[in-house]
Amino acid sequence: PIYMEKGEGSCLFDVDKNKYIDFCASWGPLILGHAHPAVIDAVRRTALDGLSFGTCSEKEVEMAELLTSAIPSLEMVRMVNSGTEAVMSALRLARGYTKRSKIVKFDGCYHGHVDYMLLSAGSGLLTSPISNSAGISPNAVNEVIIAPYNNPRALEKIFAKYGDDIAAVIVEPVAGNMGLVLPDKGFLETIRTLTSKNRSLLIFDEVITGFRFAPTTYGNMVKIDPDLTCLGKIAGGGMPIGAFGGKADIMKKLAPLGPVYQAGTLSGNPVALAAGIATIRTLIEENPYKDLEKSGKQIKETIDDFAKNKGLDLKCVAKGGVFTLFFRQDAPSNLNEVKECDTAKFANYHRFMSKNGIYLSPSQFELNFISSAHSEADIEQFIETAKKALMQN
Ligand code: PLP
Repeated sequence: PIYMEKGEGSCLFDVDKNKYIDFCASWGPLILGHAHPAVIDAVRRTALDGLSFGTCSEKEVEMAELLTSAIPSLEMVRMVNSGTEAVMSALRLARGYTKRSKIVKFDGCYHGHVDYMLLSAGSGLLTSPISNSAGISPNAVNEVIIAPYNNPRALEKIFAKYGDDIAAVIVEPVAGNMGLVLPDKGFLETIRTLTSKNRSLLIFDEVITGFRFAPTTYGNMVKIDPDLTCLGKIAGGGMPIGAFGGKADIMKKLAPLGPVYQAGTLSGNPVALAAGIATIRTLIEENPYKDLEKSGKQIKETIDDFAKNKGLDLKCVAKGGVFTLFFRQDAPSNLNEVKECDTAKFANYHRFMSKNGIYLSPSQFELNFISSAHSEADIEQFIETAKKALMQN
């Protein structure tokens, strides 16, 4: 692996002083680029007053007000330390609130490393889930049902069979953890309708998508209100943060008001909050989203044209400032299609890019992130290097 030493704006520098234009952005949080002055300044100033108090502090209120005003479906919110914690706590809350135990998740969506979320549905709908990771008790996963992404009919069948037992459906509203897979028209609406009809909760995992395409969530952008939303990444601006929230009557079931326990020694610590608040405020003030989208579109259109002209099996999928080059002919709409990609070709492409100063997320099944620190020259350099890389294959 490459060991990085320093990040500055759009770039990373490794221990051998090689420079890379970074399109991984610490897996997404750094939408403002590395070491953004407003974020670093907020962290530095806050740290001088102490790293953690173990009590309530004003920054928690400031963050809660920022999040609830940016995301209308968030009536109450709780801070935690990672996206994984946000998901784990939201699912426990859903089970406690509904007094049901089953959770539906979608094939190819990633929700952090909670035991019962580390599942593959390789064997398909309504069959026993298979754990992806060793070290997980079968008991931890047998209450989880895997559904294929972008397949409303399959979800209808699951609800017809298990409806009364389903506590929650959790979904990445735009899937980012099998590469970028966009929701088909009507897919999220069907999930909302089925969960409401069956009195199950809908959880949008917006750890990647929160503040990604606008200074709010994707759910709010498309006017679908989930019962609970999970946040992380951008909300912490590069510091360890997660958050989950939603309707007040559900959130009030959390301890100390209610019977669902949740706690964390460093949750809501002022330094992490300072980074998150500075990041979100900068996004609201500077509104870089149009420029991010323009760069994403430029990459997609140029790469797709190039692939077509050269007869390559390659499709770039982009939305806002995130994109994936899929080594297959068409944009995939679910995990099975994603798995058809030529990963050997991806590996050659990735190696070439890395050797030529472009740092990408190191898997076919991931996103690449454009930040507001990327210049037009950075985007051009990505495109020109990618063209050369693709011709090596
Ligand atoms: N949910 C989604 C959609 C994610 O992409 C991730 C991490 O990539 C997580 C949850 C877990 O977040 P964390 O790595 O902060 O625990």
